[in-house]
Amino acid sequence: MLNKKKLAERDERKRCELDTELLSSKYPDIESIVITMDYYHKGYKDLMMKRTVNFSPESHAYFHMECMKNDCLEGGFNLTPVISSMVKRNITSEKGEINCQGNNLSEHARIIFKISIKYNRKTS
Ligand SMILES: [Zn+2]
Repeated sequence: MLNKKKLAERDERKRCELDTELLSSKYPDIESIVITMDYYHKGYKDLMMKRTVNFSPESHAYFHMECMKNDCLEGGFNLTPVISSMVKRNITSEKGEINCQGNNLSEHARIIFKISIKYNRKTS
């Protein structure tokens, strides 16, 4: 069950997401972004969950992914730096791993992510 703090955090995240500018204004050259994440919890070698998040130009450019562990507070996986560095280098696909930095639990979850970016190839 979700505790109150986690629920409040979720509301806060939603607000942050809605406050973030749209993908089309942040990165006008991007047509779509697909983020696939495999969640692993510490102590379990099996995959806990698989998640795919799609971004279109109308999506909010909010790339801070939630930690799926219910008792984790202020954790999550921030893919913003990865994406901005990909865009800078004009890279279409990147893989990596991030540990959750939740403040009340140490090293309890990690994701293996894959990001694919499709750029507009319009010739102007
Ligand atoms: Zn966490």
